[in-house]
Amino acid sequence: MEKERKLIIAGNWKMNKTVAEAVDLVKGLKLELSGVKEVDLVVCPPFTALCEVSKLLLDSNIRLGAQNMNENPAGAYTGEIAAFMLKEFSVRYVILGHSERRTYFGETDEWVARKARAAHAAALKPIICVGETLEEREQGRTRAVLERQVRGSLAGLTRDQMLETIIAYEPVWAIGTGRNATPEQAQEAHAFIRSLLAGMYDETVARRVRIQYGGSVKPSNARDLMCLPDVDGALVGGASLEVRSFADIVKNSI
Ligand code: PGA
Repeated sequence: MEKERKLIIAGNWKMNKTVAEAVDLVKGLKLELSGVKEVDLVVCPPFTALCEVSKLLLDSNIRLGAQNMNENPAGAYTGEIAAFMLKEFSVRYVILGHSERRTYFGETDEWVARKARAAHAAALKPIICVGETLEEREQGRTRAVLERQVRGSLAGLTRDQMLETIIAYEPVWAIGTGRNATPEQAQEAHAFIRSLLAGMYDETVARRVRIQYGGSVKPSNARDLMCLPDVDGALVGGASLEVRSFADIVKNSI
C-alpha cells in the first residue's frame, strides 16, 4: 500500500507488564517484526520496564516510547519522571495527553502543551492525543472539541517542533471498548485535524505531520483504517499486549 507519509504504529502498554513479561513481549516482537521497514514501530512500556526493554531494542528496528512525563526539568516533584530520565534509556517518543490522563489525572490542553514543549526541549518526539467523548459526538461537538484540543495542546510549538510531533486521534468512546471508529468517522476527523494544522502552520506542515488513529485497533480492522488517506498509523492499547495481535496489526497495515 503506497502512503504519502510513513506509517507509525505504537503500542501503549498502559499500566501492564512486569519487567519479565515486558522482556518476553519485546523478544517476541523482535522475532516477528525484525524485517519490517515500511512502518515505524514503537513500544511504550511502563516506566519500570524501560531500562530492560531499552537494552533489548539496541539492535532492533523498534523504537522506545514512554507513556507520560513531567514538564519540569528536575527537582522536587515526588513520583514524577523527567525527560532527562527517559533519555537515559534512549526513549525517542512520549505519549502526552492520553484521554486516561486527561480524565483520571486532570490533564488540560494547556498542561499538555507545556509537556510537549518540554519534550521537544529534550529532543523527545511527543505523541499528542486528542479525541471526543461519546456525549460530545452525539451532541455534534466533535469538531469543536478537536479544534480546542489541537490548538490548546500544540500551543507554543514552533514549526520545526510541529514537524517532529505526532498527533493521535483517539475517540474516547473507542478506547478499550472494542468499538472502533468507522473508516468514515476516522478519515473525517483526521482530515479535519490536518486542516487545522494548515491554518495554524502551513500546508507543508499539514501534509507532513503524521496523525495516528487509536481506539480498539485490532488485526481485523487495521487494514481498513490504515489505508485511509489521512490515517498515518495507529496507537494500540489492548492489542499491543500480545505478540501475535500487535504483529498482525503491523503486517495487515503494510
Ligand atoms: P485500545 O487503547 O487499543 O485498547 O482501545 C488505545 C489507547 O488507549 O491508546
